[in-house]
Amino acid sequence: MTTTLPHFIGGQRIDAGQRHGDVFDPATGQVAARVPLASADDVTRAVDAAAAAFPGWAATTPLNRARVMFRFKELLERHADDLAACITAEHGKVLSDARGEVTRGLEVVEFACGIPHLVKGEHSMDVGREVDSWTEYAPLGVVAGITPFNFPAMVPLWMLPVALACGNSFILKPSERDPSASLLLAELLQQAGLPDGVFNVVHGDKVAVDALLDEPRVQAISFVGSTPIAEYIYARGSANGKRVQALGGAKNHMVVLPDADLDGAVSALLGAGYGSAGERCMAISVAVCVGDATADALVAKLAPRVAALKVGPGCQDPEMGPLVTAAHRDKVRGYVDAGVAEGAQLVVDGRGLAVEGHAEGFFLGGCLFDRVQPGMRIYREEIFGPVLCVMRVPDLETALQLVNAHEYGNGTAIFTRDGGAAREFSHRVQAGMVGINVPIPVPMAFHSFGGWKRSIFGPLHVHGPDGVRFYTRLKTVTARWPDTHAAEFAMPTMK
Ligand code: NAD
Repeated sequence: MTTTLPHFIGGQRIDAGQRHGDVFDPATGQVAARVPLASADDVTRAVDAAAAAFPGWAATTPLNRARVMFRFKELLERHADDLAACITAEHGKVLSDARGEVTRGLEVVEFACGIPHLVKGEHSMDVGREVDSWTEYAPLGVVAGITPFNFPAMVPLWMLPVALACGNSFILKPSERDPSASLLLAELLQQAGLPDGVFNVVHGDKVAVDALLDEPRVQAISFVGSTPIAEYIYARGSANGKRVQALGGAKNHMVVLPDADLDGAVSALLGAGYGSAGERCMAISVAVCVGDATADALVAKLAPRVAALKVGPGCQDPEMGPLVTAAHRDKVRGYVDAGVAEGAQLVVDGRGLAVEGHAEGFFLGGCLFDRVQPGMRIYREEIFGPVLCVMRVPDLETALQLVNAHEYGNGTAIFTRDGGAAREFSHRVQAGMVGINVPIPVPMAFHSFGGWKRSIFGPLHVHGPDGVRFYTRLKTVTARWPDTHAAEFAMPTMK
């Protein structure tokens, strides 16, 4: 019997819905569970619960909200292995990677534990004679998060700890591909003492997302996913008067200069290109080599390692697991076909990979292209799979022009021993997150995460200081305790 997952609304597990979707075990290709796909009425129910819970939670002192976060952090630590197993079972990524995802999410909870400090505002005494002024950060109300399949715990944890700690109530619409991690998070929050209704999970597809976008009581939407959907969410949410941050897709370039530590660059590319089967928004999908000699040496060292990648079920913790669904695996394989047809040189072809005992799993071996050209689809579009493109440019200036001309600007990296070149690159490159000899420069929780160009819609990045700004409204109070009552008709200026 296949389990049907519940929604989590008002502290209750709710079995609802006429429509359902299949959740697969990507390693076996078998249906592992059924996920309900919410109707607009289901969303209304979640908003009712979140709206009812909001005043009490907003009135809870920041110190007491932080105490809930501290308990949540302890529970997450205790259940980190359960969460990782749950991620691997539905996403397919290898266990150690899933464990790493949980840790990166946990760090945002640790950041949110400092909420009394983060929302304490600023105070100016004597902005005028006997006039004081201060700022306050007020919660928004009901806010929603819509998240992608590739980090079923970490991306919700980019959002919800900060949103909740700021005093908002939250509705999570996780990816319907791997929805179970979000239910475990809901249970742990409940055990941590979060009042019912403050955190809710509604599963679903476009119907649920549109209902959230059109629901007037939802004040803000945080979205992470592909660029076409991010743009849609931003346009529709903004048109409905909501605050929106919508993070989209990526094509992250790693520039390798001739003076780089080549062995270090090769190992970095292996992890950043093929870790999580390339299903990371910060995956390196393009290696830009300065000079043919650099490219030849890099490909010669990289190719045998890509061909030898250990691929298997994520629960056995190999180096790379399967892709999330058969449809996605076929899409990625289609890109490899397209690259060959367009004339790129396929140095390692993973299309024929067979994993023993897992013929029905959604596996694809690592693929490596050389001599990729800017006009090719495999360069222009996000592939989101274990496919790395090597490009050759004559100098750093051309590398910079290439990176800056791409529509995406999420992350990028440079590998070099030249501090001046690294400084020039990091200063001029058009991307939100830059690594210098660091292939995946994901900012820590106390900084903010986000890209540039069509990798983001909306001005604020997630978590860190931008997260606090996104989930609060600023209020500035100016106060005087007067002992005169003379009318003033001129624009007030402070004397
Ligand atoms: P996706 O855009 O298909 O789905 C994301 C969310 O949007 C899901 O919850 C899904 O149910 C919902 N959705 C899908 N189609 C919709 C529609 N037509 N209308 C309304 N809602 C819809 O993305 P995905 O395949 O789950 O995730 C992979 C993508 O996410 C990649 O493009 C990756 O780069 C991106 N991503 C970006 C970041 C970042 O920080 N920039 C982080 C992780 C993933």
